[in-house]
Amino acid sequence: MPVRSSRTSSRHLVRSRFRRPAAPRPTAPRPARRRAGAVAVVASSLLPLAAPSAAEVDSGRKPPAKAPVAVGYGGAVASVDPYASHAGLEVLRAGGNAVDAAVATAAALGVVEPYSAGVGGGGYLVVHDARTGGTHTLDGRETAPAAMRPDSFTDPATGAPIPFRDAVTSGLSVGVPGTPATWEKALAEWGTISLAKALRPAVRLAERGFVVDEEFRAQTELNEDRFRDFTPTADLFLPGGELPEVGSVFRNPDLAGTYRLLAREGTDALYRGRLGREVVRTVRRPPVVPGADRTVRPGLMATGDLDRYRAPYRKPTRVEYRGVEVYSMAPSSSGGTTVGEALNILEESDPAGMGRVQTLHHYLEASRLAYADRDRWVGDPAFSDVPTEELLSRRFARERACLIDPDRAMTGPVAPADPRDPRSGECVAGEGGDEPYEGTSTTHLVTADRWGTVVSYTLTIEQTGGSAITVPGRGFLLNNELTDFDFTPLSEAVDGPNLPGPGKRPRSSMAPTIVLRDGRPLLALGSPGGSTIITTVLQTLVNRLDLGMTLPRAVAAPRLSQRNTATTQAEPEFLESAAERAPLERLGHRFVPPPATFTPSPEIGAVAALEVLADGRLLAVAEPERRGGGSAMVSRPTRR
Ligand code: GLU
Repeated sequence: MPVRSSRTSSRHLVRSRFRRPAAPRPTAPRPARRRAGAVAVVASSLLPLAAPSAAEVDSGRKPPAKAPVAVGYGGAVASVDPYASHAGLEVLRAGGNAVDAAVATAAALGVVEPYSAGVGGGGYLVVHDARTGGTHTLDGRETAPAAMRPDSFTDPATGAPIPFRDAVTSGLSVGVPGTPATWEKALAEWGTISLAKALRPAVRLAERGFVVDEEFRAQTELNEDRFRDFTPTADLFLPGGELPEVGSVFRNPDLAGTYRLLAREGTDALYRGRLGREVVRTVRRPPVVPGADRTVRPGLMATGDLDRYRAPYRKPTRVEYRGVEVYSMAPSSSGGTTVGEALNILEESDPAGMGRVQTLHHYLEASRLAYADRDRWVGDPAFSDVPTEELLSRRFARERACLIDPDRAMTGPVAPADPRDPRSGECVAGEGGDEPYEGTSTTHLVTADRWGTVVSYTLTIEQTGGSAITVPGRGFLLNNELTDFDFTPLSEAVDGPNLPGPGKRPRSSMAPTIVLRDGRPLLALGSPGGSTIITTVLQTLVNRLDLGMTLPRAVAAPRLSQRNTATTQAEPEFLESAAERAPLERLGHRFVPPPATFTPSPEIGAVAALEVLADGRLLAVAEPERRGGGSAMVSRPTRR
């Protein structure tokens, strides 16, 4: 049983506390063609504001128009933020491909979502390359320094795990950033433009600034205590010692300078150069405000760790489901194996005539089982023999599926089975784990181009606000990704695959996913949300493929998250009004709101997705409500 007692759940869904201000209603709907942003929307109720002029957007005076759904031709972008989607669209319109646009969007997210993503963090990128028909992935996960040991997160005096709160805000939790290497490698392999060019919209955005919304202010406020304790962080994110004001323009010239440095020198500036030395100095001697009353453990990173960093290709996970192929991220993330195993389990049942209640029942049970196996088997494949193929085998799925009783929910948690020895699985529930803590920050984006290349990319600095440590003069926060390691062994008998180790990648839940039909992209999707990422991606697929919802509906529908615990987390809309709730409870499911105490309306995940429609149009979809709604854009609403 995982020993995670140091990990409080109090920060689960911390980020969901923050809602972007709802977009005001348009005074009068305008024909899509007249809008400068060329954003076409599907439902009239989703019509965005009249778009600001290009000059207003460029000057930083106004954000680009925001809509959660866009449909059209020539390319598409969906992300959590209109500035970021706009940056991707700009690159697509200038002739760039989906990979170019993904890097541009991600770099812009580093400006406008600096507490979720940026060059100080890591992530996973999945691409379907239309030129070759291949689907590929890059593992840009952060790595632990060479000096890290399995007990690095325990107190040497007592052997007890160090307080999770302390680990979060420390140099010790900072992994070697993988995001710059991901950008450079993705562009070199599949892109058409230089890193310098892909960074250009983000440089401009960082220089000219963006309009602060309530969410940015609220995220800063959540971090205020931590941010005040680090001189460069307070200087940057608490201008004049205050929270940034809603409506003011936030500029980050230091980040513009960092992007320019990367544009000039490539990522060598970080992995082998001056920027890297500054990162190491910051991690080893965090710039704590003199007199601050906070224990800030120094980190172990050295320049050699940066020099050794690589963002390797990984063979994507692949499962066939209801006649389509689902590609996702292999270990070091648990996203692809866990979504894939659950889909395989579901594939054992026939959705035809099953009805919504049974479909959801099977979704929850498949997720429960896949989670039990994830916790036991998945970690960095360079350090343990992760049974990726076996976890995704049909044989193993059949064995696990036999545990699902259509008339009765498992009381959970259930024991893992051994995918290498399917006979060992018995149709009995055993001891499972308590809920693993993972962050709830992060961001996901999808892009598609006119040639049929599609990108699904999740990136993060782990906690909202990462480690709270800004590299002086560089304008970005460092991650605290190494808190995704287990701090102590799974049990007295079993270390488990996710203890810290030198050069090791902590297990992730990120699940950037691309679905192909007949070898061509059908869907792309992903989400933030720590360990709920997996259930969010899984449920969105079930909604779309089994329950026949449109993609916007599949994204908007209330979410349930079962991660091998006795209770299932459910969003308020489900708890309050879903017709399926009572019948599922009669089967034995017990629903609770996500353990966020900060918000009256807890949320699970924040999807960005796209679909290639049967008539060839691109449908880009972001959240309509969660986190105040995201931003979907297409290059052209009409064919010509
Ligand atoms: N660190 C988490 C992971 O890799 C992601 C954090 C989040 O989604 O907020 O799974």
